[in-house]
Amino acid sequence: MERSFSDIRAKVDRGEAVVLSAQEVRKILEDGERQTLEDVDVVTCATRAVMSGTYAVLSFSVAPPGSFLRAKRAWLNGIPAEVGPCPNERLGIIDLMVFGTAHSRDPRYGGGHLFRDLAEGKEVKVEVETDAGDVFRVDVALSEMLQARLFGTRHSFKNYSAFVNPSDERVATIFHAALFDPCCNGASVSGCGHLNPVQNDPFLEAIGVGTRILLNGAEGFVLGEGTRSSPERPNLSGFADMYKMEPEYMGGFVTPCGPECVTSWAVPIPVLSDLILESIAAPDRSIPLPVMDVAKRREIGKATYGDVWEDVDLEVSFSPDTCKRCTQCIPESICPTGAIGFRDWKPTLDRERCFNCGLCSSACIGDVFRAHLGSLHFGGREVPIVVRQSDRLRAEKLAEDLKRRILDGSFKMTEMVDRISP
Ligand code: SF4
Ligand code: SF4
Repeated sequence: MERSFSDIRAKVDRGEAVVLSAQEVRKILEDGERQTLEDVDVVTCATRAVMSGTYAVLSFSVAPPGSFLRAKRAWLNGIPAEVGPCPNERLGIIDLMVFGTAHSRDPRYGGGHLFRDLAEGKEVKVEVETDAGDVFRVDVALSEMLQARLFGTRHSFKNYSAFVNPSDERVATIFHAALFDPCCNGASVSGCGHLNPVQNDPFLEAIGVGTRILLNGAEGFVLGEGTRSSPERPNLSGFADMYKMEPEYMGGFVTPCGPECVTSWAVPIPVLSDLILESIAAPDRSIPLPVMDVAKRREIGKATYGDVWEDVDLEVSFSPDTCKRCTQCIPESICPTGAIGFRDWKPTLDRERCFNCGLCSSACIGDVFRAHLGSLHFGGREVPIVVRQSDRLRAEKLAEDLKRRILDGSFKMTEMVDRISP
C-alpha cells in the first residue's frame, strides 16, 4: 500500500476520511477486525511525559522605554532566566529564555510549574537586574506578553526506558519521584507505548519538518530531529505558542534532584504505507522496553511496554473515606505534582494535577489511593512498577482531542517540507 499525503488530506477536507485515535485502532484489532484498519486514513497518536528538554522564550515589557540600558539577570517566580541574545537597548523590554528544568529558590517549584501557571492565566512575579545594578519588579500574565513560545529540544522519544536500582543504596535521580529503593525493589517507567507518535512512524515517513502538531494542546510544528536522536531511538524537536496551551497537559514533576517538566504531544499520522500500518498495529507487548541501571545508565535487561500498559490501571482510584489519618501522610509529601491535600482532616485529590504516576498507591496504608501498576519482567526477574513518568490516560485524551479537531476541521494537517534523518 502506498498513498500520498495530498490524497489523504483531500479526503479529510471532503469529510470522507476515516480518522481514528491509536487506542481505537488497538480496540479494533483486539476485536479481530483487521479489514477495518486497512481502511484507516489518519491515526492520531500522543504522549504525555516528563520531558526535560523544554524551554520557553518570553518577551514582554518590564518598564517604560528609557528606564534602563539593558537587562543583566532576571527571575520569574524566583526561577532564574537567561536574558537572551537581544539587548533591547533602552526599550524596557526583555527577551527571556526559561528552562523547564530550572529551579526556583523553592526546591519544589521549577520551570514546568511556571509554564503551567502562565497557561492557567496566573500573574508571575518578575525581577530584573540591570547592568547598572538597578532592580525592576513587575507582575506579568501570559496575555500581557508580546511573545510566549515553548520549544522542545528533544521530545516524544520513540518511547524511552525503565529504570531499576540494583545497588544496595538508595539513589537520588530525576527518574523517580522519591529516593530510588535499592536491590531492584521497584521500577520507574517512561514512554506511552503503542500510543507514542514516533513509535507509529518509526522511519519518519509521515512526520517531518513542518508537520502540524498539538503541543500541550496548542497548535505548533515539528522543527526537526531532537538532540540525541538516532535511527534506533528517534525523537523530535518542535514548538508552539503558549497562549492556547491547556494546563492539564503540562506542569512540573518534583524529583529528588529537583523539579522536572511535563509536556504533551499529539501528532496525526497519515497512513501512507504498509510500514506505518504495521507499526500502528503493533501492541504494547511487542514494543521493547530497555531496563536500565539508574546509577550507571547501563542497560541490564529488556522488558516490553505490555508490562507497563496492559492489564493495569491507567488512573489511580481515590477513596477518601478509608483514610486512617496517619501522623504523617507519605503520599502527600511525595506526590510529584502536589495533587494531594487535606481539608477538614480528609484527603483531597486534584484530578487536574494528578499525573497518574501511581506512587501514592504503594505509600498509602489506608487504600485511599489504589492502582495496579504491573511489573517488569526481564532476565527471569519480576520487578514491581512503583512510579510512572508517563501519563497514558491523558495521552489518550489528547489523541482523542486531536481526532475531534481533525474531523471538525479546526485542525488542518500539514505536509512536511523536508524529511527528518535522525
Ligand atoms: S498518582 Fe498519586 S502521587 Fe502520582 S500524581 Fe497522582 S496523586 Fe500524586
Ligand atoms: S497515608 Fe493514606 S491513610 Fe494515611 S493519612 Fe495519607 S491518605 Fe490517609
